[in-house]
Amino acid sequence: MAEPTKILLDESELPTHWYNVIPDLPEPPPPPLHPGTHQPVGPEDLAPLFPMGLILQEVTGERYVEIPEAVREVYRLWRPSPLYRAHNLERHLDTPARIYFKYEGVSPAGSHKPNTAVPQAYYNAAEGVERLTTETGAGQWGSALAFACAQFGLGCEVWQVAASFTQKPYRASMMRLWGATVHSSPSELTAAGRAVLAEHPDSPGSLGIAISEAVEAALADEQTKYALGSVLNHVLLHQTVIGEEALLQLAKVGDTPDLIVGCTGGGSNFAGLFFPFLREKLAGRMAPSILAVEPAACPSLTKGEYRYDFGDVAGMTPLMKMHTLGHDFIPDPIHAGGLRYHGMSPLLSHLYELGLFEAEAIDQTQCFDAALTFARTQGIVPAPEPTHAIAAAVREAERCRETGESKVILTALCGHGHFDMAAYDAYLSGQLRDHDYPAEAVAEAMARVPVVED
Ligand SMILES: *Cc1c(COP(=O)(O)O)cnc(C)c1O
Repeated sequence: MAEPTKILLDESELPTHWYNVIPDLPEPPPPPLHPGTHQPVGPEDLAPLFPMGLILQEVTGERYVEIPEAVREVYRLWRPSPLYRAHNLERHLDTPARIYFKYEGVSPAGSHKPNTAVPQAYYNAAEGVERLTTETGAGQWGSALAFACAQFGLGCEVWQVAASFTQKPYRASMMRLWGATVHSSPSELTAAGRAVLAEHPDSPGSLGIAISEAVEAALADEQTKYALGSVLNHVLLHQTVIGEEALLQLAKVGDTPDLIVGCTGGGSNFAGLFFPFLREKLAGRMAPSILAVEPAACPSLTKGEYRYDFGDVAGMTPLMKMHTLGHDFIPDPIHAGGLRYHGMSPLLSHLYELGLFEAEAIDQTQCFDAALTFARTQGIVPAPEPTHAIAAAVREAERCRETGESKVILTALCGHGHFDMAAYDAYLSGQLRDHDYPAEAVAEAMARVPVVED
């Protein structure tokens, strides 16, 4: 029989638990610190922003966290998601490598983001919260949260980074369709937004600015809390459904990965894919190489410093020890809007320091070259973010063609690019260009990172 193209799971095989990698690490990650006292933040410091159900997950030492049945019920609208074997791409590349991709574009919002949006909305609703605020870069997270809030009867207010608000107007339409209110960020609605506009009236915005606006709005109202789509431990935890399913799916075809590659903005889809495989690796059951790919224009892992910094521009979040380019660094408006974040998940940053995975940065034109090949062979139009992982997978498969190795490569195609036609138009008409690494802007931003003794 021909080797399968789609490896599917039954609904009954939907994971019952999320996997927490922290108890399996040789040492725990450094704690977030209070910006005033520089002491570790406690649950009560986070309570104005997040419901207790999520705060407890943020700090849990449990290896497995049960997924509430109400969350699994919503997950079943699209999960388990398919794992594809990229036969056409392999043939086109004439490679002996076996390329698998876990496709998260089948969710209602078109990316992996609903995997965490749904439990976040669930825990907020369960604790009587009425409304959530958030930021969104490419619009993927905002639409995921809008969808999730509609499922649990919550209001939703989204600050969308200006660059993508103008590039991708239909993402905002989708959010409004699900009942959310959407603002271009920086906006006149918050002190943080007004401060940026006063200095840079044409600011393209950044995730750091939009986070400040959403946090400020949440703090201003008792019934409102804030939701973050990446970076935090509980977000990475929720995303492990991706890797748990992929592990089962690869086992069905008797393969184990030699290389796991993912794109990283704040790190959640990559972590969600590889944490369950890392558990197997640490237990000695497999030995994949693990590679993160980030944009050359915003390379927090490969060029950032590992130190305490704020998660937002205005300095309203706790200080988190992470790879950072400086909290007020504004990346060039590259098309992979979801990867334009100045920092990296503190948990992933810690794993990187421990040497548990590698990282590299790739320019966007090279990523779009790979996306074109992928779309013309596999059919699916990838979001600009996962093209970073596809570019690395293609390069590795080409290397296998030279060496004759039949490596098993696993990646997450974490979203489709149906709302990214402006980016593809720019690419097809030769207008897409690479941005030089903005060494000076990063150095200026790094000079404003607070000094913390640790
Ligand atoms: C948000 C997003 C990303 C970046 O976020 P991570 O937390 O690094 O996964 C990447 N790809 C897509 C499709 C996204 O929506």
